[in-house]
Amino acid sequence: MKGLQGKNVLVTGGTSGIGQAIAVRFAEEGAHVAINYRRDLASVSETDERIHQALERCCDRIAEHGVDHIVVQADVSKEEDVVRMVGETIEKLGGVDILINNAGIQIPGDSHEVEVEAFDRVLRVNLRGAYLCAREVIRHLLGEGKPGAIINVSSVHQIIPKPRFVGYSVSKGGMQNLTRTLALEYASRGIRVNAIGPGATITPINRSWVDDPAKKAEVEAHIPMGRAGTAEEMAAITAFLASDEGAYITGQTVYVDGGLTLYPDFRTAWSSE
Ligand code: NAP
Repeated sequence: MKGLQGKNVLVTGGTSGIGQAIAVRFAEEGAHVAINYRRDLASVSETDERIHQALERCCDRIAEHGVDHIVVQADVSKEEDVVRMVGETIEKLGGVDILINNAGIQIPGDSHEVEVEAFDRVLRVNLRGAYLCAREVIRHLLGEGKPGAIINVSSVHQIIPKPRFVGYSVSKGGMQNLTRTLALEYASRGIRVNAIGPGATITPINRSWVDDPAKKAEVEAHIPMGRAGTAEEMAAITAFLASDEGAYITGQTVYVDGGLTLYPDFRTAWSSE
């Protein structure tokens, strides 16, 4: 895609699922990639070992394309981590041109039972984290007087309510106005801000159904196109929006959802016949 070669891209939550696919896709496009991870790689726990392997797999694939890549640790919900992460990326890659706010979590629970700490945690990662990363990257872009692009990985739940995931719904709803507000504020200074809204996507966040054929079929029955999406399909639209192919697009969310935002219950004209 036009305009990605040689650009420096920071991907948050880049060790897993959609973030990993995005990191690999940008490398395929000739961009240099900073992959953010949260957990301590030195830890010996099984989960951290899996992350380490994913990171190595991701770096190997990126290295195949002859681009630079670095890994940067940060918990995006912590201001000091984000400041350090963006600083480290600028220092090691020589700058940042594109930010992908991908890191995200969800915590289920009946809304009247949710502990406020769980609610706050989801908002801190998904919304505050995205804002903090955007703030730091925008400061850098303005300081250098150069254009840039920010892509927020939102969700269909930016507009579709998600009962039992109140923090998640609220965070993604907020992401819509984060995208639109920053887009409007910085449009005249060459910084474009857009979002993708994935539908059900095969990644570890959906471990409750992706490996269970019956549950997967149940999920896919709700999707007009009849299947879940892949992380690579999300990465392709992310790269498009960040590239010069999307040079005149700002403030938009592109839903990549197999038709999930089309009110699938209206497939038949039940309300009129
Ligand atoms: P995933 O495989 O669970 O990946 C989430 C990533 O975010 C992990 O790398 C995780 O790292 C990272 N992360 C979590 N908390 C973090 C923090 N505080 N600081 C830095 N990184 C953090 O999930 P995914 O499906 O790829 O999700 C990626 C994004 O897509 C999320 O924003 C999610 O809301 C969105 N999305 C996904 C779907 C879907 O169906 N999969 C649908 C709509 C939207 P650790 O493992 O180290 O915590």
